[in-house]
Amino acid sequence: MENLEAKILQADSLEALEKVRIELFGKKGVLAAQFAKMKDIPGPEKKAFAEGLNKQKAALQALFDKRYEELKAEEIERLLKAEAIDVSLYGTLAQKGALHPVMETMDKIIDYFTALNFSVETSGMVEDDFHNFEALNLPKYHPARDMQDTFYFKDGGLLRTHTSPVQIRTMFKEKPPIRMIAPGAVFRRDYDVTHTPMFHQVEGLVVDEKGKVSFANLKAILTDFLQYMFGDVDVRFRPSFFPFTEPSAEVDISCIFCGGEGCRVCSHTGWIEILGCGIVDPNVFKAVDYEDVSGYAFGLGVERIAMLMHKIPDLRSLFEGDIRLLEQFR
Ligand SMILES: [Zn+2]
Repeated sequence: MENLEAKILQADSLEALEKVRIELFGKKGVLAAQFAKMKDIPGPEKKAFAEGLNKQKAALQALFDKRYEELKAEEIERLLKAEAIDVSLYGTLAQKGALHPVMETMDKIIDYFTALNFSVETSGMVEDDFHNFEALNLPKYHPARDMQDTFYFKDGGLLRTHTSPVQIRTMFKEKPPIRMIAPGAVFRRDYDVTHTPMFHQVEGLVVDEKGKVSFANLKAILTDFLQYMFGDVDVRFRPSFFPFTEPSAEVDISCIFCGGEGCRVCSHTGWIEILGCGIVDPNVFKAVDYEDVSGYAFGLGVERIAMLMHKIPDLRSLFEGDIRLLEQFR
């Protein structure tokens, strides 16, 4: 029987111990075989034999139970170690993204006008001569159509130089009244501190029955818009010229850097030029077969506004893809 005790003590895992249990206590086990011998033992000795056997069985069972508890505890210990989570370890931080300052500025502009019930219109970036120039009162001889300014394709198509063609396409598609903005990328052959070959514009157009839309409306909405973008600034309108508006004006805000005192950014004038606008030229309405209407239009460069709002000195840095610039806008 010592051999049996050794077997129990030597079992080094719960699986091994289970095998020992079947070998000892099972139906065909060692103990069962011992008990089976009882029937051959003569009456008087039977009792003593049975008592001895039961004692042995109880001793083995106790030894087995003790070993089982030991192995079970070891197993739990092993699992705890294997499945432990070290909460003091550093995780991988998820990097928070940011909107590009140009898109963020564009969104802010769009928010303002959609709140005033303007629709947002878009069309393709590849345009034809008619929609980009001709319909906008920019006839063939106009200097703005210079090869120096425009990217032309061999077939006469071109990359739109402003988002104004969207206005033409919308007017062909819909009848007045129209109240729209056209945000999007535009292309010109320019590259220096304040110019890139691609930049973004938001243009606006309001058309209604003759007499319903005036320069006063235009002035009021743009003044409110610029104060929404830049806070408490003065706004002034200067006479200017654009082919598609008559009269035309350029709009300045009081310098947000010096408050109008004069500094390097505003060339010591106290004013910063911010957008162009005007009353839609009758030739534009003629091109889209609109009659007895009046309207106003305005257009602004999104990058220029983003640069002013964030004090970015070089326009080109917005398009160099340097992550260090974007990280500042998280
Ligand atoms: Zn200034």
